[in-house]
Amino acid sequence: MPFVFDPPAVPSLFIEGSSARFPVHRIYCIGRNYADHAKEMGAQSVSRANPVFFMKPADAIITGGEVPYPSVTHELHHEVEMVLALAKGGRDIDAGHALDCVFGYGVGLDLTRRDLQAAMKAKGLPWDVAKGFDASAPVSSLRTVSDVGHPQHARLSLGVNGETRQDTDIADMIFAVPEIIAELSKLFELKAGDLIFTGTPAGVGPLQRGDRFRAELQGIAVLEGRIA
Ligand code: MN
Repeated sequence: MPFVFDPPAVPSLFIEGSSARFPVHRIYCIGRNYADHAKEMGAQSVSRANPVFFMKPADAIITGGEVPYPSVTHELHHEVEMVLALAKGGRDIDAGHALDCVFGYGVGLDLTRRDLQAAMKAKGLPWDVAKGFDASAPVSSLRTVSDVGHPQHARLSLGVNGETRQDTDIADMIFAVPEIIAELSKLFELKAGDLIFTGTPAGVGPLQRGDRFRAELQGIAVLEGRIA
């Protein structure tokens, strides 16, 4: 059956050591997954009872290089995060088997219009315009599980114009990778091609036009680019 116009291209990521690409289905994100960041955002207390999830559109992916400064904001913020890529999914996945779903790992920026997020939060309104804008999800090439295994400890850092802004170890995540997958699969049927941004540590801050950024998940992935 023909489409009334050509369907859009499938958003995708590079895979280190492969000529094939990873087709992106959905982009899920967890909020408040490092205690020091939850605190800097003014969260009263960090609870393991209620993980905070939100989404970005799949075509918000950008693979580094020139990242456009978004419209309608004066406060574009960086949030460096480890990114999971799923090779398979399901519903109500048991945390004990959740790592079987992981295809690989990368590093990304959960770019945020912080001024709009603050305004939406104050009114109790949804965050979509603050989180799901065009090019809001720069992500590195992926490293496969067969290549790097499942990292338990790895330094996660972000430099802007050569100055370190964010620096942590992924071991400090409140919800670890298997728990994130298990919790998310209670809410959504996860699928091959899904990406999960796993939360950011303290040190979020503004990016200006012309800034050069370098995000690194040590020994696994690097993402470099410039705000255009
Ligand atoms: Mn985030």
